[in-house]
Amino acid sequence: SSAIMVKDLADQLGVKATELIKRLIGLGVMAGVNQELDRETAVIIATEFGATVEERATQEEQEEIILQGEDDSPESLTERPPVVTVMGHVDHGKTSLLDRIRATRVTQSEAGGITQHIGASVIEWNDRKVVFLDTPGHEAFTSMRARGAQVTDVAVLVVAANDGVMPQTVEAINHAKAANVPIVVAINKIDLPGANPDKVRTELSNYGLIAEEWGGDTIMVPVSARTGEGIENLLEALILQADVLELKANSQRAAQGTIIEAKLDKGRGPVATVLVSRGMLNVGDVFVAGAVYGRVRALINDRGQRVKSAGPSMPVEVLGFNQLPEAGDDFVILADERQAKSIADSRQDRIRRQSEPNARGVSLDDFLQRL
Ligand code: GDP
Ligand code: MG
Repeated sequence: SSAIMVKDLADQLGVKATELIKRLIGLGVMAGVNQELDRETAVIIATEFGATVEERATQEEQEEIILQGEDDSPESLTERPPVVTVMGHVDHGKTSLLDRIRATRVTQSEAGGITQHIGASVIEWNDRKVVFLDTPGHEAFTSMRARGAQVTDVAVLVVAANDGVMPQTVEAINHAKAANVPIVVAINKIDLPGANPDKVRTELSNYGLIAEEWGGDTIMVPVSARTGEGIENLLEALILQADVLELKANSQRAAQGTIIEAKLDKGRGPVATVLVSRGMLNVGDVFVAGAVYGRVRALINDRGQRVKSAGPSMPVEVLGFNQLPEAGDDFVILADERQAKSIADSRQDRIRRQSEPNARGVSLDDFLQRL
């Protein structure tokens, strides 16, 4: 709900602020001229002064509508690659698996020169792309979700075949289910003598994940991050899962996406990796990202190459931020630089106000609750 300052409300009602403050005291609300009243309190006071209150979108709501942009028509949608997060219990091989998958794409010319990490990697497999987020684990997943960002299409659940289902395996299952993200299981470490994939299948069935080969609908792929065995089957499974999901986006519109990583670089200033959710991101575009804004000065892909544009599902490092955004922030291209600045500024204002503990007046609700 929105808030209004005492002096602004007095202005709007055409009464003196002191008069308004007296009335507020009558209601048990102690507030100074520069303090904010919540919506309910403001409505009660306004009604007492004989004003009628008309519901109107707040500035924040109006800005969110601008940022959201128009919906895409079904005809405008084309296929986009799946975005995959690797989850699972500690030491079950998440990092090793990601490294192994990344290594599959290293061509002769790149060998020895593995490129910088930008927070996500694009793997090409049989002319199809799969995008892997580099930060494994459910913490990254949940912290992004807590901020309203959902970038993952498919979760790879890594379970070590010599260890089986462990507490963080169960947590990962719960998080993926809560986010409605389908799970593909990688039964890892099958190279080990103590590996028992069937034990893993049995344990997972207790959590509602029934292997396809046992008549269920969860794809489970035995792999070894160490030897590379089964990695291609895993990629195949992810593409299959993507086909089932029919992932699509409009690649022709102004871009939108999510910040998945942000850092202050010594030489380059604030840089962030954006995962494009829809549209085409181009050098020169003006953007808002959370409470910051800027103009795209350069785009760098996951192989460290400069590119002119990036389409749906593509991770790309963006240069041109005025300040550092945060992981989980939205990223939206706007046509008008002044509008971008003004939206970023008002978001900054709101953050500042929320962090000032004494800025708000006591709300009527708080007051009534204390009676
Ligand atoms: P994470 O904590 O899930 O990221 O797990 P890591 O990738 O760090 O792996 C934990 C340990 O398991 C490391 O010592 C790896 O070398 C080892 N490991 C990972 N995958 C395999 C595998 O497929 N086979 C074997 N034998 N060891 C593995
Ligand atoms: Mg790790």
